[in-house]
Amino acid sequence: LPPLIAILGRPNVGKSTLFNRLLGNREAIVEDRPGVTRDRHYGRGTHGRYHFRLVDTGGIVFRDDHPLGAAIQKQALFALEEADALIYTMDGIEGYNPIDQDVIDFVRASGKPAVFVVNKIDGVNAEARLMDFYQHGVSPLIGISAAHGRNINEVLTPFIPLM
Ligand code: GDP
Ligand code: MG
Repeated sequence: LPPLIAILGRPNVGKSTLFNRLLGNREAIVEDRPGVTRDRHYGRGTHGRYHFRLVDTGGIVFRDDHPLGAAIQKQALFALEEADALIYTMDGIEGYNPIDQDVIDFVRASGKPAVFVVNKIDGVNAEARLMDFYQHGVSPLIGISAAHGRNINEVLTPFIPLM
């Protein structure tokens, strides 16, 4: 079976948009509302000649700040445990969020191969938005736009040795 890569991140950072983009199928999953994914969604994709599996989660929340927090977090933690590798997604428009640090520490502690991506890098002064994250010591970082398809291949390339 190809390696399973889990997409983690707070609600509304663009996980489902990235999931669909990485699978090359915008119609794959349609959420009733952005930011709300109650169940885990799975897909299979290719990166060049390599194959991978992907799981989209409702969002990892380490503080009680989301109406569906507990149920969604359970899904995310299950995905984190079953995955071979992790993509931790953050929001470049909103900027660095202290909750991100908790989860980044957790992702690192898992010992699984991980990439950290800052999504929504698609506006004016987009690159400057990355500085906020670098200054908080989040690295290596990949700035992407899931909505516009920017830098998407760079997200998967670090995982090729697993594929
Ligand atoms: P999720 O809750 O993490 O799964 O996030 P969604 O994929 O549902 O996206 C949340 C919101 O962010 C939606 O309104 C998306 O259209 C928007 N969004 C996702 N990716 C991007 C992006 O690359 N740029 C911008 N500007 N908005 C995005
Ligand atoms: Mg979602």
